Amino acid sequence: MSTKPSPHLSPLPLSFPFTEIPKTGAHQQVANEVYWCRHQLPFALDHINTWLLQDHDKWVIVDTGVSDERSQDGWKRILDDGLGGSEISKIIVTHYHPDHIGNADWLSNRTNTSVWMSPTEFLTAHAVFEGAATHTTRAVGKLFQAHGLPDEEIGNVAAKGDHYKELVRSLPTSFLRITNGEKLDICGRPWQAIVGSGHSPEHLALFCEKEHVLISGDMLLPKISTNVAVWPHSDKSNPLKEFLTSIDLFQDLPVDTLVLPSHGLPFVGMHSRIQELKMHHEERLNTLLSICDEPRNAFQVLPTLFERTLDAYQTFFAMGEAIAHLNFLWWEGELTRQESDRGNGVIHFIKN
Ligand SMILES: [Zn+2]
Repeated sequence: MSTKPSPHLSPLPLSFPFTEIPKTGAHQQVANEVYWCRHQLPFALDHINTWLLQDHDKWVIVDTGVSDERSQDGWKRILDDGLGGSEISKIIVTHYHPDHIGNADWLSNRTNTSVWMSPTEFLTAHAVFEGAATHTTRAVGKLFQAHGLPDEEIGNVAAKGDHYKELVRSLPTSFLRITNGEKLDICGRPWQAIVGSGHSPEHLALFCEKEHVLISGDMLLPKISTNVAVWPHSDKSNPLKEFLTSIDLFQDLPVDTLVLPSHGLPFVGMHSRIQELKMHHEERLNTLLSICDEPRNAFQVLPTLFERTLDAYQTFFAMGEAIAHLNFLWWEGELTRQESDRGNGVIHFIKN
């Protein structure tokens, strides 16, 4: 990245320049030739932000919402009324999660436009859709069982992740590849791809150096911390390390960059937010380490990591997060991973 913040510029505190939220079917300007749309979600996250970039007399869509009637009605109003039926030049998807890719195929067919994304996200979307490569309730159940989730809770909790096909009715069968560092020319302005991982395998963020605007996807959110979880196909992986390394990639961007996140309000002050997130994870890791004098499994540490009572849906995400934090400390050499083949075979972690 060529634009580095000058050393005398300290991080800006978090501020939210746009507090008026666009209504469903509307689009609201947030920067030169950049517009904000919002779609409701049928789960706790409540909404997703999507973005429209003017591309001469056409438009680029970034992210698409889940494929339900409500979201598609919103898109019809945006495309037909808001944009007056203008052509779409690209549909860009930041990652494979249903709220981002859900309408990509529908929009692609409706507008006769190609979908642009990173290859691992494209292939992961298809694997999850087809239940391939351990993207199954059964495999998730086995993983959670190995990390201490009681047998009577496994079926209910593991099934909470099995809604992909309800939220993504169809997927594009072809795509155009975006690679890390690539600059997409949109309306004469380069938008640089910044690829990260930890939340998803090859998550795409886009930075416009000319306007100091970052479309951060789920990698940098203003209020909630991004879900970072271990899944069955890579049960010994270290996604928390990947996530923390990935958000460091944003450190080189200018301090006054306007961040356009997938959830919450657009904000300025990304360097302060990165610091907050790092401290948040560091505190959780320290707390976790302090209770691992005795062997602990992921299920046993949930009350330490999550103070609130968790329902089955929250437990689904919390288990993946807890394993991610334990794996981080294991990879750092702070914990030993005890894969006992005695008794119930539950994996425990103990401080070195
Ligand atoms: Zn996501």
